Amino acid sequence: MSSRSSKEIIILGAGLVGSLFSIYLARRGYSVHIFERRADMRKENIAAGRSINLALSDRGWRGLKGAGIEDEIRKVAIPMHGRVIHNLKGEITRQPYGEKGQSIYATSRGILNCVLMTEAEKNGVVIHFNERCTGIDLENTTAFFNDKKVTGRSIFSADGAFSSARLQLQLSTDRFEYSQHYLNHGYKELIIPAGEGNSFLMEKNALHIWPRGGYMLIALPNLDGSFTCTLFFPFEGGDSFASVKTKEECMKFFRRVFPDVVPLMPALVEDFFHNPTGSLVTVKCFPWSYKDHLCLIGDAAHAIVPFYGQGMNCGFEDCTVFDELLGKYGDDLKTIFNEFQNLRKPDTDAIAELAYMNFIEMRDLVGSQQFLLQKKIEALMHEKYPTKWQPLYSQVTFSDIPYSKALANGHRQQEIMKKIMKLNDIEKKWDSKEVEKMILDHIS
Ligand code: FAD
Repeated sequence: MSSRSSKEIIILGAGLVGSLFSIYLARRGYSVHIFERRADMRKENIAAGRSINLALSDRGWRGLKGAGIEDEIRKVAIPMHGRVIHNLKGEITRQPYGEKGQSIYATSRGILNCVLMTEAEKNGVVIHFNERCTGIDLENTTAFFNDKKVTGRSIFSADGAFSSARLQLQLSTDRFEYSQHYLNHGYKELIIPAGEGNSFLMEKNALHIWPRGGYMLIALPNLDGSFTCTLFFPFEGGDSFASVKTKEECMKFFRRVFPDVVPLMPALVEDFFHNPTGSLVTVKCFPWSYKDHLCLIGDAAHAIVPFYGQGMNCGFEDCTVFDELLGKYGDDLKTIFNEFQNLRKPDTDAIAELAYMNFIEMRDLVGSQQFLLQKKIEALMHEKYPTKWQPLYSQVTFSDIPYSKALANGHRQQEIMKKIMKLNDIEKKWDSKEVEKMILDHIS
């Protein structure tokens, strides 16, 4: 590859977004080369990094469908119909995610990534492994690697939250907007192994949450009967990674705050001290492109915290939106890059805000009676007036309403619900005609 005039495209990163995006480009007639810093995970037994399973929802499915691999992934995805909330006493409450038949899907990150790479290769994409991009010459559309440099028509940077290409944009362009924000919480993965005969030791088709105010534990099912749990926990302070230093402190802490989990995790202490602690970052930047030479996509353009389960889904939606622009403008990549970033930026900023809001909701609110009642009223309104009231979670998860619109709708709904929840005796009259009428009056 050595020319800017060809249809040869360079993608940095064969992660979830880079691999899916390459299929879209190949199907549009581009010759695509991906350069991935890691070894081929299909050959070497390397973890696909970060959380082991992810929640796939409608935006993600649309991305996969457009590339022709929806059916293959459906076979290995486990539907989660709702949240199962575990309180301190070990009692559980169920909250459906949407209407009957609507679910989010637990999917193995590794399987998904492997299927995407194999499908990319079937479409003629060439993946170069063990090739870490070390720098970019923006003017000449050239990417540098340890032992070579490669020039193409355009470079797409799908190299994740700590993108090296984004750093190049920041260093060599004027007025590049950039912000990076870390949560005071980190995360650690723990495992609930399968029971006898690969049985599930908790309800299979659900996302389990143990909300504990300042922190929480969640669990998603795996095909082999196990659950991948993630503890979102402060780095420092009272209950924190810093305060749990010994095996005894670990057991004591878990017995105190997650007593029902302890018998299900025989390797708790080993996992806790062996598995790495990850950090959680939100990255925002603009512009995402340089002429028609470079364009950021996926986490490289917009990394968010994982609490809405939308990072990958949003990156897959990037692919769908970009492909629509290819349909509209053909090979005019300069126009497409510009329109792509202008279209997506408000939406990716919105999902960043929504993801943070959901962190508060999951760790603090899902355990509160007021919150549960509000959700019940909203669900009733949606059942009776589906076009007038669609809960925010459904707009984000089960629709393709732009995230920015969903956020604005959500703020409006929250204002209405604040007034409703202040009504005297709302616990008794929550499903009355009076409450219904008040909500309808506010909407119109
Ligand atoms: P990545 O997956 O980070 O892939 C980037 C690729 O680029 C990697 O393969 C990397 O090796 C490669 N690379 C990096 N630097 C270079 C370089 N210099 N040269 C060459 N290659 C390079 N999203 C959801 O939708 N649902 C969820 O349930 C969900 N859960 C999550 C839970 C946690 C704890 C976390 C941290 C994230 C979660 N996400 C979830 C978000 C999701 O993981 C990301 O949004 C998604 O992985 C982004 O894909 P990507 O391809 O843009 O980046």
